[in-house]
Amino acid sequence: MSKTIYVTSPSLPSLDDFIQYLRKIWDNKWLTNNGEFHKQFEAELAEYLGVKYVSLFTNGMIALQVGLQALRITGEVITTPFTFVATTHAIHWNGCKPVFCDIEPETYTMDPDKVESLITPKTTALMPVHVYGNPCDNEKLQKIADTYGLKLFYDAAHVFGVRKDGVSVCNWGDLSMLSFHATKVFNTFEGGALVSNDETMKKRIDFLKNFGFANEITVVAPGSNGKMDEFRAAYGLLQLKIVDGEIAKRQKVAQHYREALKDVPGISMLYDIPGVKHNYAYFPIRINAKRYGMTRDELYDKLKANNIMSRRYFYPLCSDFPTYRGLPSATADNLPVATQVAQEILCLPMFASLTKEEQAAIVETIR
Ligand SMILES: *Cc1c(COP(=O)(O)O)cnc(C)c1O
Repeated sequence: MSKTIYVTSPSLPSLDDFIQYLRKIWDNKWLTNNGEFHKQFEAELAEYLGVKYVSLFTNGMIALQVGLQALRITGEVITTPFTFVATTHAIHWNGCKPVFCDIEPETYTMDPDKVESLITPKTTALMPVHVYGNPCDNEKLQKIADTYGLKLFYDAAHVFGVRKDGVSVCNWGDLSMLSFHATKVFNTFEGGALVSNDETMKKRIDFLKNFGFANEITVVAPGSNGKMDEFRAAYGLLQLKIVDGEIAKRQKVAQHYREALKDVPGISMLYDIPGVKHNYAYFPIRINAKRYGMTRDELYDKLKANNIMSRRYFYPLCSDFPTYRGLPSATADNLPVATQVAQEILCLPMFASLTKEEQAAIVETIR
């Protein structure tokens, strides 16, 4: 390929439509702090996702930090090392200790059967991640949370629009965090949200994302500034109109990869899970070096030499970063599945506008 193919490329709404919304913002001169577009986007997003309450944020990271504050999480939080660093960082920024739990070999999500052995008297919460849009085993995780009196806070950055048995995955647990970063299925340039199930929690979150202000003169908690502005709320409204079409295009890309790579020895892929409506956020493949005849890193380099940018999500594991590798739970002995998957995983280019020719070039290079 002479033109570089990136691992992702954002979907954008009509610029003309956006300019009309910008005119409104210029007329209103209301730029942030729960303006008209903000209110409308929160309502339409809750409706689209099929959830009760949405609180918009300036990005997913601050939403994670505020969510942990809203739930008053302290002590130790059991989480997964197979995620984007933000999950672990948020725990650290809240003065808590991340405790890494291994993942399931099929979905790469936190293995519920390995959670209980990590619980101590200091454990207050579970923070699993729906990796690549694969829903976690919520039934088992919620049962553990209930048994031990723990909060369940989902990093739902990858599951925009994902449903299981018709129900939004974002309804699970005490809270879910969404990210609308440029690289996600649904973007607002930067952005994020917390999904909550009761009005009191929604209120608390909204105080916390605005410095803790409950009204003009009352500050109820040491809050942060996580507000989304009118510019991105207006843009988000337009994104809602196109997101279904974009996911449908991604599904076609996924189907084509699956068809074209199914008989390549040593390459395995994830498939749709019965009962789950997927969003095709990523297209991870796993490389068995012996059978494929090349390691994951060698394939990564070969693709790069052909101007195809894949990504080794999630390598290194969060438990292998200098800041966290000293933690007692960060050992490969404790994390055998995650350690192996991190060595073998590669995310191929996946976005709605990926052309047939580009995909053919990617498949050809792999084969
Ligand atoms: C993108 C992402 C985040 C962080 O979201 P930002 O909006 O970029 O701050 C957190 N967790 C996971 C799993 C992510 O993929």
